[in-house]
Amino acid sequence: MAKQPMLKFVSLERDMPTKRAPDLRNKDFGEIYAEYADAKAKEQASRCSQCGVPYCQTHCPLHNNIPDWLRLTAEGRLQEAYELSQETNTFPEICGRICPQDRLCEGNCVIESSGHGTVTIGSVEKYITDTAWENGWVKAIKPTTERTESVGIIGAGPGGLAAADVLRRQGVQVTIYDRYDRAGGLLTYGIPGFKLEKDVVMRRNDQLAEGGVTFKLNCNVGEDISFADIQAAHDAVIIATGVYKTRDLAGPGSGAKGIERAIDYLTVSNRKSFGDDVAEFESGQLDAKGKRVVVIGGGDTAMDCVRTAIRQGATSVKCLYRRDRANMPGSQREVQNAEEEGVVFEWLSAPKGFVEKDGTVSGVMVQKMRLGAPDATGRQAPEVIEGADYVEEADIVIKALGFEPEDLPKLWGVEGLEVTRWGTVKAAFTSGATDMPGVYAVGDIVRGASLVVWAIKDGRDCAEAILDQLNSSTAVAAE
Ligand code: FAD
Ligand code: SF4
Ligand code: SF4
Repeated sequence: MAKQPMLKFVSLERDMPTKRAPDLRNKDFGEIYAEYADAKAKEQASRCSQCGVPYCQTHCPLHNNIPDWLRLTAEGRLQEAYELSQETNTFPEICGRICPQDRLCEGNCVIESSGHGTVTIGSVEKYITDTAWENGWVKAIKPTTERTESVGIIGAGPGGLAAADVLRRQGVQVTIYDRYDRAGGLLTYGIPGFKLEKDVVMRRNDQLAEGGVTFKLNCNVGEDISFADIQAAHDAVIIATGVYKTRDLAGPGSGAKGIERAIDYLTVSNRKSFGDDVAEFESGQLDAKGKRVVVIGGGDTAMDCVRTAIRQGATSVKCLYRRDRANMPGSQREVQNAEEEGVVFEWLSAPKGFVEKDGTVSGVMVQKMRLGAPDATGRQAPEVIEGADYVEEADIVIKALGFEPEDLPKLWGVEGLEVTRWGTVKAAFTSGATDMPGVYAVGDIVRGASLVVWAIKDGRDCAEAILDQLNSSTAVAAE
């Protein structure tokens, strides 16, 4: 009888891929986790207890068939594991790297409740598809038949790309419009290389282009082409523009030079990783080298900024957050990584204003806070501790307080595109359909700042809804 390859969690400890030492990784933008060796991936996959009701799968936004691809990996059937994994996820190797697994799949792995560490689902998912790329199993899309209908997608982030992939596989003609010079959205210009190396994203862009997706880059919709022109050129349009309006800070000195937006700082740093010449970096404006850096915010964007500043050679990097460690929105794993790399966190600290010298920022006026009674959302509201203010010296201050949607209907002059009271585009969650016929929306522009895996899910669902719509129109025309 064949040996049972699974349920090894009792005898095998959880073991993540090796993490590079802080004093080595804090000098470059390479990913911090190594790849599993083959034997280790098999071993870690074999810890899964093959639950009849797999909570990991339920809590994965894509409902990935996790137990089955873990079993195939443990059995050494990697190509089959890859085929299964890519059926539900357009970019498994990207999600394996940057999903907050502790809140999603792994956070719901049942073996943890019996005192064993969770299965390392994300690392195995990454391993499977990285191996598929190495072995040439990931192929360009080749639809069996070409269709005449076309879909225009505005925004080449994960939401737009995931929709493009599903549509193209069914032979639909797809054009993606993006204002940037490279596709990938925040995968390319937001998330730093130490979490997601850029060639991992670029090979996906190339795969889509090779499969027949047309990219119109450096094309800012609303400036270089109108929304109406895109609508007229296609049978359906998907809005996948993400959210980029930065929440701002008021207070004295808030207009001083040296107070920068997180998205500008990270975009410039990512451009440097591509080897681009970037004026704001060369001038020193958005280069932290030799500077005292203060980042304001407690989310994942703030974590990416502090860790970028360390790598650029800042003399000190501090992160101010108005709540405490337990109540921050960012991932605990990333805080730990940042601390290991030399970032100092000032919890319960909020900016009140800025000190400036000749128009340039030289410090942040900090108010110390304590957590008070829970507010309407159930979270403890921060309250000021009177008389505890101090000045945190800084040469550059980065605002990472979150993002809001731009006013698309106004920006694009589109009547009839409804938005919610938060400014996000109003669209059905299951299909992305808006109230305008033939116009859909997916990803952050619908959900507000969210996650890559949700954008992928939206893009895939929306593409399926469009295919249903196109198929029913074809059927009616044939009657
Ligand atoms: P985006 O990725 O924002 O893509 C939108 C695209 O639309 C962009 O390429 C933009 O150029 C284009 N566009 C916008 N307006 C126009 C226009 N008028 N004309 C043409 N093109 C336009 N999520 C995770 O899951 N894990 C993480 O670790 C993580 N880290 C993050 C770190 C940072 C710094 C940030 C900012 C976000 C992070 N996120 C993370 C969130 C994640 O990146 C987003 O939820 C996801 O990228 C949203 O995908 P999207 O396709 O909706 O939009
Ligand atoms: Fe986990 Fe994300 Fe992969 Fe789903 S897509 S299995 S949540 S890492
Ligand atoms: Fe395996 Fe954990 Fe998922 Fe159960 S919850 S199937 S043990 S990964």
